[in-house]
Amino acid sequence: MRPFLYQRATDPSVAVQALAAAADNNPLTQASVQPLAGGTTLIDLMKLDVMRPATIVDINPLAGAWSTIDLEGGNLRLGALARMSDVAANPKIQRDYPVVADSLKLAASAQLRNMASLGGNVLQRTRCSYFRDVSYSNCNKREPGSGCAALEGFNRTHAVLGTSEQCIATYPGDFAQALIALDATVEITGKSGVRNIPFARLHKAPENSPQIETTLAAGELISGFVIPGRWPRSVYLKARDRQSYEFALSSAAVALEVQDGVVRDARLALGGVATVPWRAREAEALLKGQKFDDAIAERVAEAAFSGAKGRKDNAFKIALGKRVVARALHQAVAVEI
Ligand SMILES: Cc1cc2nc3c(=O)[nH]c(=O)nc-3n(C[C@H](O)[C@H](O)[C@H](O)COP(=O)(O)OP(=O)(O)OC[C@H]3O[C@@H](n4cnc5c(N)ncnc54)[C@H](O)[C@@H]3O)c2cc1C
Ligand code: SF4
Repeated sequence: MRPFLYQRATDPSVAVQALAAAADNNPLTQASVQPLAGGTTLIDLMKLDVMRPATIVDINPLAGAWSTIDLEGGNLRLGALARMSDVAANPKIQRDYPVVADSLKLAASAQLRNMASLGGNVLQRTRCSYFRDVSYSNCNKREPGSGCAALEGFNRTHAVLGTSEQCIATYPGDFAQALIALDATVEITGKSGVRNIPFARLHKAPENSPQIETTLAAGELISGFVIPGRWPRSVYLKARDRQSYEFALSSAAVALEVQDGVVRDARLALGGVATVPWRAREAEALLKGQKFDDAIAERVAEAAFSGAKGRKDNAFKIALGKRVVARALHQAVAVEI
C-alpha cells in the first residue's frame, strides 16, 4: 500500500474543510482525498493499488450524530454512518420497509455488514475484475482514455442496461435499489452547508466519462438518507451464483400499494444488471390501476428489460432479470400486512 496522510475529523465542519483543503492541494483528481467510513471498499482498493488517495479523512468520530435511525413523522431517516447490520436488524424497518432491511441483509457477509456504513455502501465501486486488477492497462474508469478490457473480454457479470462503449461495469450495491425505488433523497454536507438531492441524481451513468461516478463535489459528504412514506408491501429479491456472500447477478426492489386487488402505486428498481442504480419507470407505469395477475407480471418484466443489450457472456442476465422481476412482483402482492 502507498503512504498516505491520515486525518481524523472531530465534527462535520472539520471533515468537509479537511476534504476540501486536501482536494485543493492536489486538484489533479478528486480521488486524491477520500473519506473513510467502514473501509471495506476503500482499504480493499488501496491494497490493490486501484485507489491511491494521498489523504484519508476518517469520519467515524461523527457517528454519534450521523448514525441515527429515525422513524418519526411517517418517514424514515437513516444516518450515513449507520451500520448495515444495525439497519437490517431494526424490527420497525423490517415491518415498514422490508425492501430496505432485505437489501442490506442479503449483502456481503455478517462481518462486513457490522463494519460497513450506509454512505460507504452506496458509494462502493464496481467489481469489474479489469478495474480491480491493475495489471490490465485498458480500463477507462481507472485510466480515462485507456479503453475497456471488458468489451471483448470475459463480461459475464457486466451490465446490460445503461452501458456505453466506454464502460459496461455493473453497479454492485443492493441497498441503492431500495433507495431509488422508494424515491429517497440524499442529504449532502459540504463547505456551504447541507443540500438535498433525489437519490436518483446521485449516480452518473458512464457515457463518455466512466471515471466520474457521482454528482458529489470535492469535499462533500453524504450525511443521511430520507425515505418518504411507509412501504410495508415491499420486497428485495436477489439472484446470485451462491445464496450468501455474493453480489447480485440480477435483483429487483419492488414496492406496491394494492387495494381490492388493484395496484394503486408501484415502484420497481433493478440491481446487478445496470451501470447505476436503475429505476424501471416505464415498466412500473404498466402496473398502476391494473388488477395483478401472471400476464401483467410478464408484461412488466418484458418492459423492464426492453432497452437491454446483452454481450458475449452476459446475455443470460436479460432472461434471468425478467424472471426475477416477475417473481418479486408476485412476492410483493402476497405480502401480508
Ligand atoms: C467480499 C465482499 C462482498 C460484498 N458483497 C456485497 C453485496 O453482496 N452487496 C452489497 O451491496 N455490497 C457488498 N459489498 C460491499 C460492501 O457492502 C461495501 O464495501 C460497504 O458497504 C462500503 O461501506 P464502508 O463504510 O466500508 O465504505 P468505505 O470503504 O469506508 O467507503 C467507500 C467509499 O465511499 C466513500 N465514503 C464513505 N462514506 C462516505 C460518506 N458518508 N460521504 C461521502 N463519501 C463516503 C469513501 O471515501 C470510499 O470512496 C461486499 C464487499 C466485500 C469486500
Ligand atoms: S467495464 Fe468499465 S470498469 Fe470494467 S474494464 Fe471496462 S471501463 Fe474498466
